[in-house]
This record gives sequence, structure tokens and C-alpha cells, in this order.
Amino acid sequence: MASKVPDTSENMEICKKFCGPCPTFKPNQLNEHPPMALFCSRGQSAKPAEEITDNGCNCFGCGVFQNYKLGGGWFCIYGAEGKKA
Ligand code: SF4
Ligand code: SF4
Repeated sequence: MASKVPDTSENMEICKKFCGPCPTFKPNQLNEHPPMALFCSRGQSAKPAEEITDNGCNCFGCGVFQNYKLGGGWFCIYGAEGKKA
């Protein structure tokens, strides 16, 4: 299923404020693997999920998450659908 979140510069700016300081983002160098951020729109990181150490997810406080009524979180690991409950 295609993501409901548009890949826009506005959403990217919001994303940077949440994925950027996320404890899972920098330690796993997700900024060095496409699609870099906005995983809820663009899908999971090219870094294999089994190589990403989960230190928590900041998505739940993000305006994009709230605007599009997303669920799941951890889009960098699980893709645009997020983590299954
Ligand atoms: S919900 Fe997560 S991946 Fe999506 S824009 Fe917000 S911080 Fe980024
Ligand atoms: S999608 Fe969630 S877990 Fe992944 S970097 Fe962004 S805030 Fe962190």
C-alpha cells in the first residue's frame, strides 16, 4: 500500500526535528543510507533492519505522525506501514 504521507519539503523539515535527534537515528548512521529520513513516506532505510539497533522512536511526537494519523512508528526499520502492534 502506498504511503499516505506526501514527500514534501514541508514534511521533511518537520521530520528532521524528530528523526534527527532520535536515539535510533544517529547511532545507526541512518543519515548515510537512503532515503535518509521521512521514512513514513519514503519507506524503510536501505540499511538492513537486522543491522539497526532500536534505541526508541521519536515519531509519536511528530506533527506529520499526528496530521496523517499514523500508527506503528519505527518507519526506518519497518517501512511506511510502521511497526505492527
Ligand atoms: S512520523 Fe517519523 S518518519 Fe515520519 S516525518 Fe515524523 S519523525 Fe519523520
Ligand atoms: S522513524 Fe522513528 S525510530 Fe526511525 S529514526 Fe525516525 S524517529 Fe527514530
